[in-house]
Amino acid sequence: MAHVVIIGGGFAGVWSAAGAALARGAAELRITLISPNEHLVLRPRLYEPEPDLAKVELGRILGPIGVEHLRASVSTIDTGRRVVVADGREIGYDRLVLAAGSKLVRPEGLPGAERLFDIDTLDGARRLADHLRGREDYRAVVVGAGFVGLEAATELAARGRVLLVDRSQVVGHQLGPGPREEIEAALDRLRVERRLGTTVTEVGDGYAVLSDGTRVEADAVVWSAGMRASELARQISGELDHLGRVPVDRHLRALPEVFAAGDTAAAAFDAEHTVMQACQHATPLGKVAGYNAAADLLGVPPRDFTPGPYVTCLDLGGAGGIFTRGWDRRVMASGAAGKEIKRQINQFIHPPVDDAAKILAAADRVLLELPFFPRDEESGQPGSTAARRSWRRAS
Ligand SMILES: Cc1cc2nc3c(=O)[nH]c(=O)nc-3n(C[C@H](O)[C@H](O)[C@H](O)COP(=O)(O)OP(=O)(O)OC[C@H]3O[C@@H](n4cnc5c(N)ncnc54)[C@H](O)[C@@H]3O)c2cc1C
Repeated sequence: MAHVVIIGGGFAGVWSAAGAALARGAAELRITLISPNEHLVLRPRLYEPEPDLAKVELGRILGPIGVEHLRASVSTIDTGRRVVVADGREIGYDRLVLAAGSKLVRPEGLPGAERLFDIDTLDGARRLADHLRGREDYRAVVVGAGFVGLEAATELAARGRVLLVDRSQVVGHQLGPGPREEIEAALDRLRVERRLGTTVTEVGDGYAVLSDGTRVEADAVVWSAGMRASELARQISGELDHLGRVPVDRHLRALPEVFAAGDTAAAAFDAEHTVMQACQHATPLGKVAGYNAAADLLGVPPRDFTPGPYVTCLDLGGAGGIFTRGWDRRVMASGAAGKEIKRQINQFIHPPVDDAAKILAAADRVLLELPFFPRDEESGQPGSTAARRSWRRAS
C-alpha cells in the first residue's frame, strides 16, 4: 500500500496528517506521523503560568482519522531511496511531508549558558514555571524583545521584576513601528525595565552580566532571541532561506516526492512576503501539504496554498493584548479587547479531538475562522475570497 510519512507532531504535522486523511477518503493509503512526543504542544501558549495545559494528546487526533503514530526521532532522510531513519529504523515512504518545526537559537559559548531558561519547548517552559513557582518579587531577565520575549516579559511581570534586554535599539524590532507605541506603553505600565542595544554575556548564580559591562541581579534569565528551522531541512534542500527553511512551490512541494509545511517551509504568502514561522501559517500549510502529498498518490488534483489575511495577536500580561492586521501590523484592538481576542485565539488553536468528522471538516478549512475576522457579505463565510479582498483594501 502506498505510504505517506509525516515528520513532526506540531501544528504542521498534525494538520498534514488530517489533510492527508481528508484526501484519502475511502481509498487505500497508509499514513504515518513520526514524532518523539505523545502530545501536540501548543507552543503559542507556553508563556502561560501553567504550560502543562498547553498540550493535546496526539492519539486523540490521529486515532479517529486512522493515522499511525510512530514515537521516534528522525535522523536521516534519504530522498534517493525514499526512506527515513527514525531511532535507527528505516521507514520507506512514497510521499514525505517535512514538518519538523523550529527551535530557539541558543547562544554559543556564553558562560553559564546551561543556566538559561526558555519557553521554546514544553520541558523548557515547565522548568521555568517550576523554578519560579510560589516565589514573589523575583528578578527575571528576558533576552530578546520580539514576539516571544515580549509575551514572556509581560507575563513574568505579574509576580516579579523584569528586565528586558535586546541587541536592537527598539522593542519589537521584527514587529515594525505599527504596534510599538502600544507595546512601550504596556511595558511602562507593568514596570518592565528595558536595556536596549545590549545583550547578556554571562549568566551566573543569581546574576547576569550585560554587554555594557553591568552586572544585574537575576533569579532567572530567559533566552528568547531567534528561531531556526529543524536541521532536517538541510537534507531536503541546499538552498535554505535565512531561517533555515526549505523553498516550496504553491502546492508546498519541495522535491518531486517531498512536501514541507510549518516552520520548515519557506512558502510564498504573497508577491512580497514569505509565511511567518507562526502557528497561524503552520496550520494551513500543514492542511495543504498533507492533502497534496496524499492527492499526488491518488491522482486527485492538488490544492494551492492560499493563506488568509495576516494578523498578529500579542499577549501583554496585565496590560492586556494587542491585535494587529496587515504586514504593517496596524493595531485594531488593544488592552482588554486585545486580550479577549488572544484568549479566543488560544482556544481556537486547540484542534478538535475524538471525532473524525470534526477533525476532517477542520482539515478542509484552510482559512482562519474567528469571530473577529471579516466575513463575506453574500455567503457569510469567514475569510472567503471577497472578504479577503475587502480586508486587503481596508488594510
Ligand atoms: C513561546 C511561543 C509563543 C508563540 N506565539 C505564537 C503566536 O502567538 N502566534 C503564532 O502564530 N505563532 C506563535 N508561535 C510560533 C508557533 O508556535 C510555531 O510557528 C508553530 O509551533 C510551528 O509549528 P510546526 O508544526 O511547524 O513546528 P513545531 O511546533 O516546532 O513542531 C515540530 C514537531 O516536530 C517534531 N520533531 C522535531 N524534530 C523531529 C525529528 N527529527 N524527528 C521527528 N519529529 C521531530 C517535534 O517534536 C514537534 O512535534 C510561538 C512560539 C513560541 C515558542
